[in-house]
Amino acid sequence: VSEFDLIARYFTRPTRHTSLGIGDDAALIRPAAGVVHALTCDTLVAGVHFPLDAHPADIGHKALAVNLSDLAAMGAVPRWALLALTLPAADDTWLAAFSGGLFALADTHRVDLIGGDTTRGPLSMSLTLIGEVPPGMALTRNGARAGQDIWVSGELGAAAAGLAVHQGSVCCDAPHPLLERLHRPQPRVSLGVGLRRFASAAIDISDGLIADLGHLLAASRLGAVIETASLPRPAALTGHPRALEWMLTGGDDYELLFTADPAQRAAVLATAAQAGVAVTRIGDTRAEPGLHLQTPDGPLPDLPRPGYDHFR
Ligand code: ADP
Ligand code: MG
Repeated sequence: VSEFDLIARYFTRPTRHTSLGIGDDAALIRPAAGVVHALTCDTLVAGVHFPLDAHPADIGHKALAVNLSDLAAMGAVPRWALLALTLPAADDTWLAAFSGGLFALADTHRVDLIGGDTTRGPLSMSLTLIGEVPPGMALTRNGARAGQDIWVSGELGAAAAGLAVHQGSVCCDAPHPLLERLHRPQPRVSLGVGLRRFASAAIDISDGLIADLGHLLAASRLGAVIETASLPRPAALTGHPRALEWMLTGGDDYELLFTADPAQRAAVLATAAQAGVAVTRIGDTRAEPGLHLQTPDGPLPDLPRPGYDHFR
């Protein structure tokens, strides 16, 4: 297939809310009255962000999911996407599966793919997402105050454990449920939108709890105490010796980490129930800087090394 056949065949679909989509030199979108645009861009590189033998449908899902997660962490409603795709070859089977995985998730969230770029080279993809949020309502990292609850959605460490399963260092019969958590993260879009009115700050957990909580605390100029016994642990990790390490430092979970006033507990729980996601209170913020991990046996003296850093 030629580059233009490829774009037409695999990436051009009817749009829902776009003035001019794929096919011209640029797309045109009409800004809705009374909203601010939230924009984000994330790249996935083969062998770094997904295993070289990952299924292309999972890669398409994950490339969009990680970007939707960033918009969720801002409380924004996702609307448009642009895809810059670099491929070693125009493989029809691969492209059909990749675009199928991507569009299935795009359809779930009513996101229009409105443009992009296609080049030849080592497999990687960058997605740019545009979302909408009412002015002044975006959830940012810097809004937390001392004495607030720290919450997390879903479970922690499942993707890191899934990677261990994938690599064969943890048992079991395939298909293991933790693999799904690694390959098909579920972005918490409706939770993020619902939390706009109740959360004071939010971030999505892409690099691990300690790393991303550290970013939120630094932006808000606060410290925190986390109760390790309260961390939401995947059932499959009950009694596993590495469970705590994965929950604290494992990346790729794409859960939301947020703060809210204790007066908002009922509202947070109701919002999460409406979004169909569990949320767990894992600690609270303190005016004094520094992150303290409290275990049932006392404070954890050495913080585990925080999440992945591409240049470390
Ligand atoms: P130009 O050379 O003007 O940048 P391209 O030939 O790169 O245009 O792309 C043609 C059209 O296809 C443009 O509308 C572009 O946004 C779109 N496009 C290219 N690659 C992709 C892709 N992987 N996914 C979605 N749209 C794409
Ligand atoms: Mg181009």
